[in-house]
Amino acid sequence: MYEGPVQDLIDELGRLPGIGPKSAQRIAFHLLAAEPADVTRLQEVLQQVKEGVVFCDVCGNVSEEPTCRICRDARRDKTLVCVVEEPKDVLAVERTREFKGRYHVLGGALDPLSGVGPDQLRVRELLARIGTDEITEVIIATDPNTEGEATATYLVRMLRDFPGLNVTRLASGLPMGGDLEFADELTLGRALSGRRSM
Ligand SMILES: [Zn+2]
Repeated sequence: MYEGPVQDLIDELGRLPGIGPKSAQRIAFHLLAAEPADVTRLQEVLQQVKEGVVFCDVCGNVSEEPTCRICRDARRDKTLVCVVEEPKDVLAVERTREFKGRYHVLGGALDPLSGVGPDQLRVRELLARIGTDEITEVIIATDPNTEGEATATYLVRMLRDFPGLNVTRLASGLPMGGDLEFADELTLGRALSGRRSM
């Protein structure tokens, strides 16, 4: 244990995802030794991100305006919606340049053991969108792991009731157990173009 603010910093950093106690300590001491200007810049972007970034009121992606750039873009196909878990997955799919539709960000995956059920995800918003927008195909692109699979199965069941709606899933070939964001562009692009109806 360190004294006061140093330990507070280590504790705060340790609460971030993927940062264990050792990394938290390393980052804390890096910041202590850093130039004041560098620390100020970090402080500023942290503040900006909390004040200036919102979640798109249509798709749930991160955005600087109430509606994100993709949802505002009239050139994007409104009839096609790709459902992903997190905003970082939007970036992963965008990188493939294979997809010209729009997105729906769930905000996670079903994980009953951690208390994440359908109500904790943006499922209701998705169903409402399908009810009102002219969506003809929903591509389910959840992560290729246990939670992602469970989420996909649940969504397929919920979407079955919409007449005329084509529900598809990414083709297999993505490395199992991983995150969508770790798939390379080519593999993800192929999974996207080879998607299959459910
Ligand atoms: Zn949006």
